[in-house]
Amino acid sequence: MTGHARYPHVFAPLDLGHTRLKNRILMGSMHTGLEEVAHGFERMAAYYAERARGGVGMIITGGIYPNREAGRGSKLSTPEEAEQHRLITNAVHAADPDVKICMQILHTGPLARTPDCVAASAVKSRIGSHTPNALTEEGIEKQLDDFAQCARMARFAGYDGVEIIGSAGYLISTFLVKKTNLRTDDWGGPWENRMRFAVEAVRRVRQAVGPDFIVIFRISAMDMLEGGLAWDEVVSLAQAVEAAGASIISTHFCWHEAPVPTIATMVPRAAFASVTGRLRKVVSVPVITSNRINMPQVAEDVLARGDTDLVSMARPMLADPELVNKARDGREDQINTCIACNQACLDHTFSGNQQVSCLVNPRACNETLLNYRPVQSAKRIAVIGAGPAGLAFATVAAQRGHRITLIDAGSEIGGQFNLAKRIPGKEEFHETLRYYRRMIVLHGITLRLNTRADAAMLKAEGFDEVVVATGIQPRTPDIPGIHHPKVVAYIDAILGRQPIGQRVAIMGAGGIGFDVAELVTHQGTSGAVDIDVFAREWGIDFKRHPRGGVTGVVPQVAKSDREVILMQRKADALGKTLGRTTGWTHRLVLNRRGVQMVGGVEYLLIDDAGLHVRVNGEPKLFAVDTVIVCAGQTPQRALYDELQAAGLKTHLVGGAFEAAELDAKRAIDQASRLAAEV
Ligand code: NAP
Ligand code: SF4
Repeated sequence: MTGHARYPHVFAPLDLGHTRLKNRILMGSMHTGLEEVAHGFERMAAYYAERARGGVGMIITGGIYPNREAGRGSKLSTPEEAEQHRLITNAVHAADPDVKICMQILHTGPLARTPDCVAASAVKSRIGSHTPNALTEEGIEKQLDDFAQCARMARFAGYDGVEIIGSAGYLISTFLVKKTNLRTDDWGGPWENRMRFAVEAVRRVRQAVGPDFIVIFRISAMDMLEGGLAWDEVVSLAQAVEAAGASIISTHFCWHEAPVPTIATMVPRAAFASVTGRLRKVVSVPVITSNRINMPQVAEDVLARGDTDLVSMARPMLADPELVNKARDGREDQINTCIACNQACLDHTFSGNQQVSCLVNPRACNETLLNYRPVQSAKRIAVIGAGPAGLAFATVAAQRGHRITLIDAGSEIGGQFNLAKRIPGKEEFHETLRYYRRMIVLHGITLRLNTRADAAMLKAEGFDEVVVATGIQPRTPDIPGIHHPKVVAYIDAILGRQPIGQRVAIMGAGGIGFDVAELVTHQGTSGAVDIDVFAREWGIDFKRHPRGGVTGVVPQVAKSDREVILMQRKADALGKTLGRTTGWTHRLVLNRRGVQMVGGVEYLLIDDAGLHVRVNGEPKLFAVDTVIVCAGQTPQRALYDELQAAGLKTHLVGGAFEAAELDAKRAIDQASRLAAEV
């Protein structure tokens, strides 16, 4: 331990024998997609160097493939390929020579988007694009040699170590589990054979890199597969990879194809650390825990409990590269906290064609392109609207040196964030609001709440420029009976300003329709803040740890007392516009609670009897006592038009600019970019 008053365990160095980590927080691996874009290595160098300056003890890069079968994208097997990686290792070591950087060797096996993909057996993954080619014995030898060569080249490129990912449904893990390993040779069948590939990969990598190099093995400590790894198998694998030369074992939870959320915002903070804690007791090398550890106090707590030696934070380092320094200096109230939304990071990764960034920090992965430089001459700028766009603009512009007055008609800052924070499972939005409240004070932003701005007032006050971030107004569809007393606007439903009946129709099934369905069907404590509730809802057994960690029984989600129908006019399946990596969890939860989902609806009339519709041409009455309207938004631009007419230099951002499909990601990104330029 160190003498750090608040985080003594976080700031204790860790001796690895041949080297030392300066503290216990590492930046976990996140694929950025930058490897494949123009100037990608320069951009990655800047991205990692910024995190090194921000105080982490160690960085693990996004995955790099050992060969072409392993996945599309950046491969490392030759000295020529290693040269471009020097940009990264040099930048990180120049930023702070005490920060270690390890390269993740990623072999995605059956999840590689190529018909040449390989696996233990020809078993297609539920989420894979191709049936993998079963490896021959010679093929296995080649793959193992490629792991070793990749590690050798990583060392040549200046990395301090490598991480071998042996989990998630990627190549190595397909050997471990019976359902993907149907082999009858020495690489399949009994457990000793199934774990052989993993152990051999570590042994050959260690042989290739020598003793004074970090080798991390990422283990499936809980794969969440029915019939997955038993706990004694996890233990014996961990001990075997340690004996084969692993210097650190990193615990990973869940194959990508398993229907259990492990990192989404509905997962409680540090939910899986106790599993790492059990593994820590049976190995001698340090272990890493991860998943939903997004603030320094959470990291300190799991370290202090003895659950882990190191804490991996991947997404939190996108959200705030300076997280560790802020913790060290007692500035944790300035941390821009990862809210586990996945909207700009993993959703982009899995879309296959979008570059990764961060909803709360659009600079992430744009460090060479989006910079908030101090201004030469400060302007007086009024920002109207303290929602996501207004807050982002005000913060960045004030940080650059402009004099900002932030005006909102409401009594608190936050706009739509104040709705989001009330949805069970979205409690992390409180952190975003805390961050912005602190930024307002820190950057000397003048905040005027309960104030309705108009052109005369703004002109009289002599602002140089005005930024209009007045947001949206909910759309009121033109349907007979839309003003019937049983009709409730989503804002009133979420803020609890109108009573909601027992039989509810939700009109509109976008992000907000789903949020409202969650809110009105939710009973009891949110699983996001209670690990026992979360475990029950998703069928996880942390204590007995059956195979895969999952009980196999249908998760116990209480059916809602309310009868709820969620509907849209489109004939598609509901929820298609939700996040790629999280949408399925929302659909599953609502299904389990008994919410009816109906597409292809034509709204006809709302009256005392309920909501009259036509579904696929058939007239139908939903006999409900409340209709909640979640039919999207229209921009609120009256002030902008007024300011334009008055000749004031005016900018428009966020929902007021474009309400269609607007979300906080686009609002913050657009506002931050404008603030970087004014
Ligand atoms: P949205 O995603 O655009 O959905 C609007 C819904 O209203 C759609 O289901 C649409 O379906 C329906 N609709 C549109 N015009 C209508 C009309 N004239 N009459 C009746 N229904 C109509 O908007 P939102 O749900 O309000 O969400 C706003 C933004 O916040 C979105 O970008 C959303 O992604 C984001 N958000 C995301 C999440 C999340 O990802 N978890 C959560 C909350 C909010 P039909 O046209 O088929 O009827
Ligand atoms: Fe975290 Fe969301 Fe940013 Fe991803 S996009 S790093 S989940 S805040």
